[in-house]
Amino acid sequence: MSKGKKHIETEAIRSQLDRTQFLEHSSPLYLTSSFVFEDAEDMRASFTEEKERNIYSRFTNPNTSELVEKVCLMEGAESGYAFATGMAAIYSTFAALLESGDHIVSARSVFGSTHTLFTKYFPKWQIDTTYFDVTKPETIASCINPKTKILYAESPTNPAVDIIDLDLLGAIAKAHNLILIIDNCFATPYVQQPMKHGAHLVIHSATKLMDGQGRVLGGLTVGNADLIREIYLFARNTGPALSPFNAWLLSKSLETLPVRVDRHCENALKVAEFLENHAKVNWVKYPFLKSHPQYDVAKRQMKLGGNIVAFELKGGVAAGRQFLDGIKMCSLSANLGDTRTIVTHPASTTHSKLSEADRLEVSITDGLVRISVGLEHIDDIIADLEQALN
Ligand SMILES: *Cc1c(COP(=O)(O)O)cnc(C)c1O
Repeated sequence: MSKGKKHIETEAIRSQLDRTQFLEHSSPLYLTSSFVFEDAEDMRASFTEEKERNIYSRFTNPNTSELVEKVCLMEGAESGYAFATGMAAIYSTFAALLESGDHIVSARSVFGSTHTLFTKYFPKWQIDTTYFDVTKPETIASCINPKTKILYAESPTNPAVDIIDLDLLGAIAKAHNLILIIDNCFATPYVQQPMKHGAHLVIHSATKLMDGQGRVLGGLTVGNADLIREIYLFARNTGPALSPFNAWLLSKSLETLPVRVDRHCENALKVAEFLENHAKVNWVKYPFLKSHPQYDVAKRQMKLGGNIVAFELKGGVAAGRQFLDGIKMCSLSANLGDTRTIVTHPASTTHSKLSEADRLEVSITDGLVRISVGLEHIDDIIADLEQALN
């Protein structure tokens, strides 16, 4: 595999497996559960890891290794492991690194299932979590106690598109000797590279923009080699590995990630500007709109504004539901980061089980609509939104 430090666009295309005797141009798919050994000595040296080679596809497989290598090069990470889903990556990362009694400090607005891990499952092992409000980063230090081991956040957040200052998180993690883990799913390594700001590990749901075509589930954790080693050993023994087929697809998806994300972000900015000028809209939140409360931080740490736009309709839950019913072309779906534009109304769907007070703690107002802006022609996207608003 190529090891040269080239531009992200080039690494996403050129860091591929060595060619076989067939001299294929594009990497082949290795659908094999195991690999054979030359002799007894080869087998012994492989199992003691004196030799770095594939043994069994739960440990490594050429296609998953290619995907991991690409994401490491794009994120500026030493090493990584690919998982069947983003949640498998998140669960395995915490489970590998934490002991009973350890403590997590996390942003309050994290992906729903991550929140469930922290509140429902980790307390079973005496692992507790303290949450900080992402709009009040000055309160983070007061959440830390002597048992705190991990500082965790997503930026931009879901679904409110708040931005957290990654340099600040990096400085806090360093001062308190914490492992800083960033879920970089909403930004992708093309838009933002948390390792540059002091993160020790970066997690992805590859299901979203990385695949970008709504075809497969996948996840990755990349970062410092010593931490990844622990995560790898946990995964190797517990079995959340990504299938070679999905790794092969995701590796192809990365070849077009930069051009896709460019267009996603260009379309999203236009959607945000359209909504900001619409009479039925109270406010719009998009990182690269000047009106965004953390616009300066977003500009500092992000190359582009991402593809998620949040806005508040006048008229609360009823207006939100009415807007969704008026949508003709865009999809009503739980996914995001797809070629197809997706519209969701969190208060009546994904976050309907929360009380209004709990929703407000994560900035989900009753009229909040989240749009994952896709790659259809921008005029068609805006026309659909406009007729639904009217
Ligand atoms: C979707 C998502 C996940 C979970 O990923 P899956 O691949 O669905 O398991 C984690 N974090 C964020 C920010 C997500 O959007």
